[in-house]
Amino acid sequence: MTNSRSHPVTRAVRSGLGGGEHRSVTPPIHLTSTFEFEAFDQPGAHDYTRTSNPTRDLLAVALAELEQGIGSTITSSGMSALLLACQLLSPGDKLVAPHDCYGGTHRLLTSLSERGQFDVLFVDQGDETALRQAFEQQPRLVLVETPSNPLLRITDIQLVADLCSKAGATLAVDNTFLSPGLQRPIPLGADLVIHSTTKYLNGHSDVVGGAVVAADQELHDEMQWWANCLGLSGAPFDSYLTLRGLRTLYTRLRAHEANTEAIVALLCDHPEVAKVHYPGLADHPGHEIAGRQQDGYGAMVSFELAGGRASAEDLVQALNHFFLAESLGSVESLVAHPATMTHAAMSAEAREVAGIGEGLVRLSVGIEDVRDLTDDLARALDRVAVRSHAPNVRFRSIEPEPRDTALVRAP
Ligand SMILES: *Cc1c(COP(=O)(O)O)cnc(C)c1O
Repeated sequence: MTNSRSHPVTRAVRSGLGGGEHRSVTPPIHLTSTFEFEAFDQPGAHDYTRTSNPTRDLLAVALAELEQGIGSTITSSGMSALLLACQLLSPGDKLVAPHDCYGGTHRLLTSLSERGQFDVLFVDQGDETALRQAFEQQPRLVLVETPSNPLLRITDIQLVADLCSKAGATLAVDNTFLSPGLQRPIPLGADLVIHSTTKYLNGHSDVVGGAVVAADQELHDEMQWWANCLGLSGAPFDSYLTLRGLRTLYTRLRAHEANTEAIVALLCDHPEVAKVHYPGLADHPGHEIAGRQQDGYGAMVSFELAGGRASAEDLVQALNHFFLAESLGSVESLVAHPATMTHAAMSAEAREVAGIGEGLVRLSVGIEDVRDLTDDLARALDRVAVRSHAPNVRFRSIEPEPRDTALVRAP
């Protein structure tokens, strides 16, 4: 058993280990949908896996410990975790959500509100005046996503928590972009923490899953009840893999962050990059708040290319060590084009309001050797430079001599 006073790094490694049948150190995986009853009216600790499962429960306990909550509900995806939190709302209730939230979240909240399940108000939560105005509408639930996707805007969790407690609203924070390794919203005043465990928590791009961690028993019971009722609990096998991924969370984060620092420095120095969005930069508008409420700046970075969409396309084509793929938080590096990928479900107007342009590129920095990543990115950016200043130059013809880019770029 894990000592509750041990360090979170140790807890992540040890949670649920030991004490098993045959004295196995690693807990077994319970791939069963159903459990035997002793007799009439005498179920065991578990009766049916939609309701509870020993393997899934181990992950739930580990995650609740790391987020400092009372309990957590493991769901089939991040989206089902958000859907679960939405069960707190009845028709007529108001939900305040960030205007630049995850694309799938935007689609879910818009679609449910169009059907009258609640009213959603999308707000720029970095704008304190807009935020205070939203609270005048007496929201029942407030959703925060910080850092936001893909611009890494920072919302002051403590400030929103204070506004929520004055207004009697429930605060849910989507902590997917940082994980409990870098940010713990519950001690800052959140009532619920939402995760797409698909990302950093599992960390190996082989599971889609989610979780809702609750700060108090009543909320936790409500989440458990609805997860069973709606049937959106996570699968035991996925839970097993996610718990295994979770054991290395803190070690992975250190490698992710070290690589990201080098990549951000490279991006800031490159003439083709018009703007870098990373909360670790002193000129980032949320830098100071991030420094206060986070234990690190994370491994997500986005940047705008001076050459717009064409340059973004060229860059992505030229990269070898970044897969062009959605998702984030895994050991391998990924590159995404939010306007056509993660945020394609948003209308063009909504994207414009959120500041997601065609030249915006997002990186999820992995844990590969740092030189492989920086060399790859530097080479790809140089090629973008060549193309944007001499659009007829073909990639292949210049590939053997990348150092000639300065010549091609002249007048
Ligand atoms: C990925 C993601 C989700 C959705 O999670 P899925 O596991 O893909 O369903 C929700 N919020 C954020 C911030 C995400 O990055």
